[in-house]
Amino acid sequence: MLKERNLRMTRQRQVILEELRATDQHPSADALHERVKKKLPRISLGTVYRNLEILTELGEIRTIALAGSLKRFDGIPQNHYHMRCMRCDRLVDAPMDVVDSLERVLQEKTEFRILSHQLEFTGICPDCQALLDDNA
Ligand SMILES: [Zn+2]
Ligand SMILES: [Zn+2]
Repeated sequence: MLKERNLRMTRQRQVILEELRATDQHPSADALHERVKKKLPRISLGTVYRNLEILTELGEIRTIALAGSLKRFDGIPQNHYHMRCMRCDRLVDAPMDVVDSLERVLQEKTEFRILSHQLEFTGICPDCQALLDDNA
């Protein structure tokens, strides 16, 4: 009985992970729930959310949490940088390598032992720029 339930949990988690890795949109839990429901029609938002927390703890995915905005989820667990559009909230991977020297420089200047860092660039995406130009 317990084993059966665990297996079902694992199957749900697997589908959630696959759906998250199938997109580069960095969806919110809500948006991912909409995708997962196509495969698991009865799954609740709460279940999706709990599994996203577990997957984050397992190091399979990343939770992107910035003060003042909805949590977003990333199927790529390796460190990389993001760009966020202030107008449409689009979140995309920045096409640049992680700058390891940032941690070294800061560590040399402070007493901190730096373990990781996240970097997010904020601006206006090309689509929103085009809209702004149209309205001008
Ligand atoms: Zn935009
Ligand atoms: Zn990403």
